[in-house]
Amino acid sequence: MEAKSYELGDVVQMKKAHPCGVNEWKIIRLGADIRIKCEGCQHSVMIPRREFDKKLKKVLVQANTDEN
Ligand SMILES: [Zn+2]
Repeated sequence: MEAKSYELGDVVQMKKAHPCGVNEWKIIRLGADIRIKCEGCQHSVMIPRREFDKKLKKVLVQANTDEN
């Protein structure tokens, strides 16, 4: 299994789409809990990092691709 890496500002796809039909979420807070905001309706949810890791499908857009 490859480790999933994500950073603040990344746009990710989850295993389940938001009820509004959009499956694109922006990471707006990164800590023990992670807050993601639906790109479709701007609704935001806070979930524990462990749960986020389980529900994350893939990273769609990386906010910062610099390696420094
Ligand atoms: Zn939504």
